[in-house]
Amino acid sequence: MSKTITHIPLKAASFGTSREVTAIRYGAAGARPKAYLQASLHADEIPGQLALHHLMRQLDAAPEAVRGEIVIVPVANPIGQAQRVRGEMIGRFDMDGGANFNRDFPDLTEAAAEILAGKLGADESANLALARSALGAAIEAIQPRTQADHLRQILMRLSHDADMALDLHCDEIALMHLYTTPDLWPAARALAADLGAAAVMLARESGGNPFDEALTTPWWKLRARFAATPLPAAPCLAGTVELRGKADVDDASAAESAAGLYRTLQRMGAIAGEAGATPALANEAVPLEALDLLRAPIPGVIARQVAIGSRVARGDVVSDIVNSISQERVPVRARCDGLVLSHCLLPFASAGDVIAKVVGREALPDRKGKLLTDK
Ligand SMILES: [Zn+2]
Repeated sequence: MSKTITHIPLKAASFGTSREVTAIRYGAAGARPKAYLQASLHADEIPGQLALHHLMRQLDAAPEAVRGEIVIVPVANPIGQAQRVRGEMIGRFDMDGGANFNRDFPDLTEAAAEILAGKLGADESANLALARSALGAAIEAIQPRTQADHLRQILMRLSHDADMALDLHCDEIALMHLYTTPDLWPAARALAADLGAAAVMLARESGGNPFDEALTTPWWKLRARFAATPLPAAPCLAGTVELRGKADVDDASAAESAAGLYRTLQRMGAIAGEAGATPALANEAVPLEALDLLRAPIPGVIARQVAIGSRVARGDVVSDIVNSISQERVPVRARCDGLVLSHCLLPFASAGDVIAKVVGREALPDRKGKLLTDK
Protein backbone atom coordinates (compact mmCIF):
# COMPACT_ATOMS: atom_id res chain seq x y z
CA MET A 1 0.00 0.00 0.00
CA SER A 2 1.38 3.33 -0.99
CA LYS A 3 2.33 6.37 1.01
CA THR A 4 2.60 9.72 -0.70
CA ILE A 5 3.62 13.09 0.68
CA THR A 6 2.25 16.22 -0.97
CA HIS A 7 3.52 19.74 -0.32
CA ILE A 8 0.83 22.29 -1.10
CA PRO A 9 2.12 25.87 -1.36
CA LEU A 10 0.18 28.62 0.38
CA LYS A 11 -0.18 31.89 -1.47
CA ALA A 12 2.59 34.19 -0.32
CA ALA A 13 1.72 36.91 2.17
CA SER A 14 4.90 38.90 1.65
CA PHE A 15 8.01 39.07 -0.53
CA GLY A 16 10.70 36.50 0.06
CA THR A 17 8.61 34.07 2.13
CA SER A 18 6.90 30.81 1.32
CA ARG A 19 4.84 28.36 3.34
CA GLU A 20 3.27 25.03 2.56
CA VAL A 21 0.78 22.53 3.94
CA THR A 22 2.09 18.97 3.98
CA ALA A 23 -0.44 16.19 3.48
CA ILE A 24 0.58 12.56 4.02
CA ARG A 25 -1.59 10.01 2.27
CA TYR A 26 -1.71 6.30 3.11
CA GLY A 27 -3.52 4.09 0.61
CA ALA A 28 -4.75 5.02 -2.82
CA ALA A 29 -6.25 8.42 -3.65
CA GLY A 30 -10.00 8.00 -4.04
CA ALA A 31 -10.17 4.69 -2.14
CA ARG A 32 -12.99 4.25 0.37
CA PRO A 33 -13.46 4.69 3.19
CA LYS A 34 -11.54 7.95 3.41
CA ALA A 35 -10.33 9.24 6.76
CA TYR A 36 -8.84 12.68 7.28
CA LEU A 37 -6.92 13.71 10.40
CA GLN A 38 -5.33 17.07 11.13
CA ALA A 39 -3.56 18.55 14.15
CA SER A 40 -2.69 22.01 15.44
CA LEU A 41 -5.11 24.18 13.46
CA HIS A 42 -4.75 26.18 16.63
CA ALA A 43 -1.03 26.05 16.16
CA ASP A 44 -0.10 26.19 19.84
CA GLU A 45 -2.16 23.07 20.62
CA ILE A 46 0.46 20.38 20.20
CA PRO A 47 -0.89 17.07 21.62
CA GLY A 48 -2.38 16.10 18.23
CA GLN A 49 1.00 16.33 16.52
CA LEU A 50 2.52 13.78 18.88
CA ALA A 51 -0.58 11.56 18.68
CA LEU A 52 -0.37 11.58 14.87
CA HIS A 53 3.37 10.84 15.11
CA HIS A 54 2.51 7.67 17.06
CA LEU A 55 -0.29 6.81 14.63
CA MET A 56 1.94 7.30 11.57
CA ARG A 57 4.66 5.14 13.06
CA GLN A 58 2.08 2.37 13.36
CA LEU A 59 0.93 2.91 9.78
CA ASP A 60 4.54 3.00 8.53
CA ALA A 61 5.25 -0.28 10.32
CA ALA A 62 2.34 -2.08 8.63
CA PRO A 63 1.23 -0.06 5.60
CA GLU A 64 -0.38 -3.14 4.06
CA ALA A 65 -3.09 -2.91 6.74
CA VAL A 66 -4.47 0.29 5.18
CA ARG A 67 -7.66 -0.55 3.30
CA GLY A 68 -9.06 2.83 2.29
CA GLU A 69 -7.43 6.23 2.10
CA ILE A 70 -6.02 7.99 5.17
CA VAL A 71 -4.94 11.61 4.75
CA ILE A 72 -2.97 13.14 7.61
CA VAL A 73 -2.03 16.80 7.98
CA PRO A 74 0.12 16.85 11.12
CA VAL A 75 0.68 20.61 11.04
CA ALA A 76 -2.57 22.13 9.83
CA ASN A 77 -1.51 25.71 10.48
CA PRO A 78 2.01 26.61 9.35
CA ILE A 79 1.09 30.30 9.63
CA GLY A 80 0.36 30.08 13.35
CA GLN A 81 3.26 27.72 13.97
CA ALA A 82 5.63 30.49 12.87
CA GLN A 83 3.97 33.26 14.90
CA ARG A 84 6.42 33.64 17.76
CA VAL A 85 6.60 36.77 19.88
CA ARG A 86 9.50 36.84 22.32
CA GLY A 87 9.42 33.10 22.84
CA GLU A 88 5.62 32.68 22.99
CA MET A 89 3.78 30.96 20.18
CA ILE A 90 0.64 32.86 19.19
CA GLY A 91 -1.16 29.98 17.51
CA ARG A 92 -4.86 30.59 18.06
CA PHE A 93 -5.27 33.92 16.29
CA ASP A 94 -3.92 35.28 13.06
CA MET A 95 -1.64 38.16 14.06
CA ASP A 96 -2.51 39.74 10.72
CA GLY A 97 -6.19 40.55 11.17
CA GLY A 98 -6.81 38.88 14.51
CA ALA A 99 -9.13 36.11 13.33
CA ASN A 100 -9.34 32.83 15.21
CA PHE A 101 -7.79 30.23 12.88
CA ASN A 102 -10.65 27.81 13.64
CA ARG A 103 -13.47 30.15 12.72
CA ASP A 104 -14.85 31.55 9.48
CA PHE A 105 -14.56 28.39 7.44
CA PRO A 106 -16.79 28.78 4.38
CA ASP A 107 -20.41 27.60 4.43
CA LEU A 108 -20.57 25.83 1.07
CA THR A 109 -24.31 25.17 1.14
CA GLU A 110 -25.50 27.87 -1.27
CA ALA A 111 -22.78 27.29 -3.85
CA ALA A 112 -23.30 23.52 -3.75
CA ALA A 113 -27.11 23.89 -3.93
CA GLU A 114 -26.82 25.94 -7.12
CA ILE A 115 -24.71 23.23 -8.73
CA LEU A 116 -27.07 20.48 -7.55
CA ALA A 117 -30.33 22.12 -8.66
CA GLY A 118 -32.19 19.69 -10.95
CA LYS A 119 -29.48 17.01 -10.76
CA LEU A 120 -30.48 14.85 -7.77
CA GLY A 121 -32.50 11.66 -8.26
CA ALA A 122 -33.94 8.76 -6.31
CA ASP A 123 -30.63 6.99 -5.55
CA GLU A 124 -29.08 8.15 -2.26
CA SER A 125 -25.55 6.95 -3.00
CA ALA A 126 -25.57 8.65 -6.42
CA ASN A 127 -26.83 11.84 -4.73
CA LEU A 128 -24.05 11.56 -2.15
CA ALA A 129 -21.42 11.39 -4.91
CA LEU A 130 -23.01 14.34 -6.74
CA ALA A 131 -23.18 16.41 -3.55
CA ARG A 132 -19.55 15.65 -2.66
CA SER A 133 -18.47 16.70 -6.10
CA ALA A 134 -20.59 19.88 -5.85
CA LEU A 135 -18.92 20.70 -2.53
CA GLY A 136 -15.54 20.14 -4.17
CA ALA A 137 -16.47 22.51 -7.02
CA ALA A 138 -17.71 25.09 -4.50
CA ILE A 139 -14.34 24.93 -2.72
CA GLU A 140 -12.46 25.39 -6.00
CA ALA A 141 -14.60 28.43 -6.82
CA ILE A 142 -13.43 30.25 -3.68
CA GLN A 143 -11.00 33.08 -4.40
CA PRO A 144 -9.11 33.39 -1.10
CA ARG A 145 -8.01 36.90 -0.27
CA THR A 146 -5.53 36.16 2.49
CA GLN A 147 -3.01 33.45 3.24
CA ALA A 148 -5.20 32.30 6.16
CA ASP A 149 -8.24 32.02 3.87
CA HIS A 150 -6.13 30.05 1.40
CA LEU A 151 -5.16 27.73 4.26
CA ARG A 152 -8.87 27.22 5.05
CA GLN A 153 -9.54 26.41 1.40
CA ILE A 154 -6.69 23.87 1.25
CA LEU A 155 -7.86 22.09 4.43
CA MET A 156 -11.42 21.94 3.06
CA ARG A 157 -10.18 20.60 -0.27
CA LEU A 158 -8.31 17.79 1.47
CA SER A 159 -11.20 16.85 3.77
CA HIS A 160 -14.60 17.69 2.25
CA ASP A 161 -15.20 14.26 0.71
CA ALA A 162 -13.96 12.21 3.68
CA ASP A 163 -16.09 9.64 5.49
CA MET A 164 -14.46 10.80 8.71
CA ALA A 165 -12.57 14.04 9.44
CA LEU A 166 -11.11 14.75 12.86
CA ASP A 167 -9.64 18.06 13.91
CA LEU A 168 -7.25 17.45 16.80
CA HIS A 169 -7.11 20.30 19.30
CA CYS A 170 -6.60 20.58 23.04
CA ASP A 171 -7.99 22.73 25.81
CA GLU A 172 -5.80 24.39 28.46
CA ILE A 173 -5.85 22.09 31.54
CA ALA A 174 -8.48 19.54 30.58
CA LEU A 175 -9.93 16.08 30.34
CA MET A 176 -10.28 14.43 26.92
CA HIS A 177 -13.48 15.64 25.23
CA LEU A 178 -15.19 15.88 21.87
CA TYR A 179 -17.41 18.36 20.04
CA THR A 180 -19.61 17.20 17.20
CA THR A 181 -23.09 17.60 15.76
CA PRO A 182 -26.31 15.92 16.98
CA ASP A 183 -26.64 14.49 13.44
CA LEU A 184 -23.60 12.32 14.28
CA TRP A 185 -24.94 10.96 17.53
CA PRO A 186 -24.79 8.04 18.19
CA ALA A 187 -22.57 7.50 15.10
CA ALA A 188 -19.64 9.14 16.93
CA ARG A 189 -20.21 7.18 20.12
CA ALA A 190 -17.57 4.52 19.43
CA LEU A 191 -15.04 7.22 18.51
CA ALA A 192 -15.69 9.01 21.80
CA ALA A 193 -15.42 5.76 23.72
CA ASP A 194 -12.24 4.63 21.93
CA LEU A 195 -10.62 7.98 22.70
CA GLY A 196 -11.70 7.80 26.33
CA ALA A 197 -13.64 11.06 26.10
CA ALA A 198 -14.93 12.27 29.45
CA ALA A 199 -17.56 14.44 27.76
CA VAL A 200 -19.18 14.89 24.36
CA MET A 201 -20.93 18.14 23.44
CA LEU A 202 -23.36 18.37 20.54
CA ALA A 203 -24.32 21.40 18.45
CA ARG A 204 -25.27 21.89 14.83
CA GLU A 205 -24.19 25.52 14.78
CA SER A 206 -21.94 26.61 17.64
CA GLY A 207 -21.32 30.01 16.02
CA GLY A 208 -18.35 31.10 13.96
CA ASN A 209 -18.24 28.12 11.56
CA PRO A 210 -15.27 26.11 12.84
CA PHE A 211 -13.61 23.54 10.58
CA ASP A 212 -15.64 20.49 11.63
CA GLU A 213 -18.97 22.28 11.20
CA ALA A 214 -17.96 23.42 7.71
CA LEU A 215 -17.88 19.69 6.89
CA THR A 216 -21.25 18.88 8.49
CA THR A 217 -23.43 21.99 8.04
CA PRO A 218 -23.89 21.72 4.25
CA TRP A 219 -25.30 18.20 4.62
CA TRP A 220 -28.21 18.97 6.91
CA LYS A 221 -28.91 22.19 5.06
CA LEU A 222 -28.82 20.50 1.63
CA ARG A 223 -31.05 17.75 2.98
CA ALA A 224 -33.62 20.35 4.02
CA ARG A 225 -33.25 22.18 0.69
CA PHE A 226 -33.73 19.06 -1.42
CA ALA A 227 -36.23 17.37 0.90
CA ALA A 228 -37.89 15.41 -1.91
CA THR A 229 -34.70 13.49 -2.78
CA PRO A 230 -32.69 11.19 -0.50
CA LEU A 231 -29.43 12.59 0.93
CA PRO A 232 -27.57 11.32 3.99
CA ALA A 233 -27.80 13.60 7.04
CA ALA A 234 -24.15 13.32 8.02
CA PRO A 235 -21.94 11.31 5.64
CA CYS A 236 -18.74 12.77 7.13
CA LEU A 237 -18.07 11.86 10.74
CA ALA A 238 -16.52 15.19 11.63
CA GLY A 239 -15.60 16.40 15.07
CA THR A 240 -13.25 18.51 17.12
CA VAL A 241 -11.26 16.32 19.48
CA GLU A 242 -9.79 18.05 22.51
CA LEU A 243 -6.78 15.90 23.42
CA ARG A 244 -6.72 16.97 27.08
CA GLY A 245 -4.62 20.07 27.95
CA LYS A 246 -1.81 22.05 26.35
CA ALA A 247 0.84 20.49 28.57
CA ASP A 248 -0.36 16.91 27.98
CA VAL A 249 2.30 16.27 25.37
CA ASP A 250 4.04 13.06 26.32
CA ASP A 251 4.54 9.71 24.65
CA ALA A 252 2.21 7.81 26.98
CA SER A 253 -0.76 10.14 26.38
CA ALA A 254 0.00 10.35 22.66
CA ALA A 255 0.26 6.56 22.30
CA GLU A 256 -3.09 6.19 24.06
CA SER A 257 -4.69 8.76 21.73
CA ALA A 258 -3.11 7.09 18.70
CA ALA A 259 -4.43 3.70 19.82
CA GLY A 260 -7.94 5.17 20.06
CA LEU A 261 -7.60 6.68 16.58
CA TYR A 262 -6.27 3.38 15.22
CA ARG A 263 -9.28 1.48 16.61
CA THR A 264 -11.59 4.10 15.10
CA LEU A 265 -9.91 3.65 11.71
CA GLN A 266 -10.34 -0.10 12.06
CA ARG A 267 -14.02 0.24 12.97
CA MET A 268 -14.70 2.35 9.87
CA GLY A 269 -12.79 -0.11 7.68
CA ALA A 270 -9.87 2.17 6.76
CA ILE A 271 -7.43 -0.23 8.48
CA ALA A 272 -7.72 -4.03 8.53
CA GLY A 273 -8.12 -5.90 11.79
CA GLU A 274 -10.50 -6.19 14.69
CA ALA A 275 -10.84 -3.19 16.97
CA GLY A 276 -12.38 -5.30 19.74
CA ALA A 277 -15.37 -4.44 21.86
CA THR A 278 -16.22 -0.76 22.18
CA PRO A 279 -15.24 0.48 25.65
CA ALA A 280 -17.91 1.97 27.89
CA LEU A 281 -18.47 5.68 27.36
CA ALA A 282 -17.78 7.64 30.54
CA ASN A 283 -20.65 10.11 30.14
CA GLU A 284 -23.55 10.48 27.75
CA ALA A 285 -23.40 13.24 25.14
CA VAL A 286 -25.07 16.51 26.09
CA PRO A 287 -26.10 19.62 24.15
CA LEU A 288 -23.30 22.17 23.87
CA GLU A 289 -25.59 24.55 25.78
CA ALA A 290 -25.04 22.30 28.84
CA LEU A 291 -21.35 23.21 28.88
CA ASP A 292 -20.98 26.16 31.21
CA LEU A 293 -18.20 28.68 30.68
CA LEU A 294 -17.36 30.07 34.11
CA ARG A 295 -16.10 33.63 33.99
CA ALA A 296 -14.08 35.78 36.35
CA PRO A 297 -16.26 38.68 37.59
CA ILE A 298 -13.20 40.72 38.58
CA PRO A 299 -9.56 40.63 37.52
CA GLY A 300 -7.28 38.65 39.77
CA VAL A 301 -5.28 35.59 40.64
CA ILE A 302 -7.16 32.35 40.00
CA ALA A 303 -7.05 30.10 43.07
CA ARG A 304 -8.45 26.79 41.88
CA GLN A 305 -10.59 25.01 44.48
CA VAL A 306 -11.31 21.76 42.60
CA ALA A 307 -9.31 19.70 40.14
CA ILE A 308 -10.42 18.78 36.62
CA GLY A 309 -12.42 15.55 36.75
CA SER A 310 -14.13 16.59 40.00
CA ARG A 311 -17.90 16.33 40.28
CA VAL A 312 -19.43 19.52 41.58
CA ALA A 313 -22.93 20.45 42.69
CA ARG A 314 -24.64 23.69 41.72
CA GLY A 315 -23.26 26.41 43.98
CA ASP A 316 -19.93 24.71 44.69
CA VAL A 317 -16.91 26.97 44.38
CA VAL A 318 -14.75 26.05 41.39
CA SER A 319 -12.18 28.85 41.79
CA ASP A 320 -11.69 31.95 43.86
CA ILE A 321 -10.53 35.11 42.14
CA VAL A 322 -8.10 36.85 44.46
CA ASN A 323 -7.59 40.59 44.43
CA SER A 324 -3.94 40.71 45.49
CA ILE A 325 -4.21 44.35 46.55
CA SER A 326 -7.44 44.44 48.58
CA GLN A 327 -7.18 40.79 49.72
CA GLU A 328 -10.79 40.29 48.60
CA ARG A 329 -11.65 36.78 47.33
CA VAL A 330 -14.59 36.39 44.95
CA PRO A 331 -15.83 32.83 44.51
CA VAL A 332 -16.79 31.56 41.06
CA ARG A 333 -19.45 28.90 41.57
CA ALA A 334 -20.75 26.07 39.43
CA ARG A 335 -24.15 26.96 37.99
CA CYS A 336 -25.16 23.35 37.51
CA ASP A 337 -24.37 19.90 38.88
CA GLY A 338 -21.62 18.63 36.64
CA LEU A 339 -18.08 17.60 35.83
CA VAL A 340 -15.17 20.05 35.92
CA LEU A 341 -13.90 19.66 32.38
CA SER A 342 -11.19 22.28 32.17
CA HIS A 343 -9.34 25.09 33.88
CA CYS A 344 -7.49 27.88 32.13
CA LEU A 345 -3.73 27.65 32.07
CA LEU A 346 -2.77 31.21 32.93
CA PRO A 347 -3.52 31.62 36.65
CA PHE A 348 -4.56 35.23 36.26
CA ALA A 349 -7.84 36.51 34.83
CA SER A 350 -8.96 39.77 33.34
CA ALA A 351 -12.58 40.61 34.14
CA GLY A 352 -14.90 38.45 32.03
CA ASP A 353 -12.32 35.82 31.12
CA VAL A 354 -13.44 32.20 30.91
CA ILE A 355 -11.54 30.50 33.71
CA ALA A 356 -13.10 27.01 33.77
CA LYS A 357 -15.65 24.79 32.03
CA VAL A 358 -18.21 22.65 33.82
CA VAL A 359 -20.33 20.22 31.83
CA GLY A 360 -23.81 19.50 33.18
CA ARG A 361 -26.69 17.51 31.75
CA GLU A 362 -29.21 20.15 30.69
CA ALA A 363 -28.93 23.22 28.49
CA LEU A 364 -28.36 26.36 30.54
CA PRO A 365 -30.94 29.04 29.69
CA ASP A 366 -28.41 31.80 28.97
CA ARG A 367 -26.20 29.70 26.71
CA LYS A 368 -27.45 31.06 23.39
CA GLY A 369 -25.97 32.45 20.22
CA LYS A 370 -22.21 31.95 19.98
CA LEU A 371 -21.55 28.90 22.10
CA LEU A 372 -17.77 28.63 21.78
CA THR A 373 -15.28 30.68 23.76
CA ASP A 374 -14.91 34.20 22.42
CA LYS A 375 -11.11 34.16 22.70
ZN1 LIG B 1 -8.19 24.60 19.53
